[in-house]
Amino acid sequence: MAAVASRTDRLTGRLAERELDALLVTEPLDVRYLSGFTGDNALVVVGPDARVFVTDFRYVEQAAHQVRGFDRREGSRDLLDAVGPALPDRPTLRLGFDDERMSVRTHARLGELLGAGVELVGAGGVVGALRAVKAPDELERIAAAAALADEALGEVLGTGLAGRAERDVALALELAMRRRGAEALSFPPIVASGPHGALPHAEPRPVIIESGCLVTVDWGAQLDGYCSDCTRTVACGTPGGEAREIHALVLAAQQEAVAAVGAGRGGRELDAVARDRIVAAGYGERFGHGLGHGVGLEVHEAPRLSRLSEDTLLAGNVVSVEPGVYLPGRLGVRIEDLVVVRDGGSDVLTHVDRGLEPF
Ligand code: ZN
Ligand code: ZN
Repeated sequence: MAAVASRTDRLTGRLAERELDALLVTEPLDVRYLSGFTGDNALVVVGPDARVFVTDFRYVEQAAHQVRGFDRREGSRDLLDAVGPALPDRPTLRLGFDDERMSVRTHARLGELLGAGVELVGAGGVVGALRAVKAPDELERIAAAAALADEALGEVLGTGLAGRAERDVALALELAMRRRGAEALSFPPIVASGPHGALPHAEPRPVIIESGCLVTVDWGAQLDGYCSDCTRTVACGTPGGEAREIHALVLAAQQEAVAAVGAGRGGRELDAVARDRIVAAGYGERFGHGLGHGVGLEVHEAPRLSRLSEDTLLAGNVVSVEPGVYLPGRLGVRIEDLVVVRDGGSDVLTHVDRGLEPF
């Protein structure tokens, strides 16, 4: 309850900076973050003098249990007819909306319903910026999800990889996470062996993992709404010299970047820490994605760590640090940890051994 109140209070502070009289929040996870509601059809209107939560008939009972600190109302299925009555009573006002995610059709309908007195102002990312800075209870949940995922991988790798199909290993990992209490997966696990590891978003295949190759596993658990995200690249049997060399390079770049994380560092600057080392080794062209991303209620959220990022890290951000080198037709290596940004450093949440032959 206290946490929810402070979130809406923080939000109204941000609205004043943008000269908004109120914000319409429609993205389900943003609604969840602000209100505690876990259903998938609701909106909230938040302003200095407005705290209105609207859902449809199906969720009224659920909302009565979950939502505190809001004036709860019932709307029609698309909820939009309830927005006007939820707004402060003024002749004109500026209403922020999620211009990153609201459909053009919904925007047009909202304009018609609200009439000329309400100016719809693009305000995408306002709640996302709040969500990016985690409170202690959120950090605990993400750490618990990461610990659960760590244990699940330990169980699966403990029985060996050779002779198993990628898809079977992925399924075993899913089951191990669900058995430990994960309510969902952060995303379908990636298990990619040999040349398939050169695809950063490889899908597990019904193909047997051969001895002597590398296997990249990227997986995460969702617990209490919060996601974890981690990648390890391990050897099945004894890999060749090139595989060892690339693994050592990626691990060194990754550890250097993790060590550089701290409040005040730039997303672009941190990306460069890992990238410079990979470029210097001659593999710059083979690290084609960004260094990392924020993780929370969503597995990809603010802030971003990449060559194009304009984000500056804040204490309480949770970010992945995941450089990779991908050699098409040969192999791929990615190593990813989840870290909490602190003043002057970071805490790593993912602890599975990063070595090539850990199990
Ligand atoms: Zn990942
Ligand atoms: Zn990731």
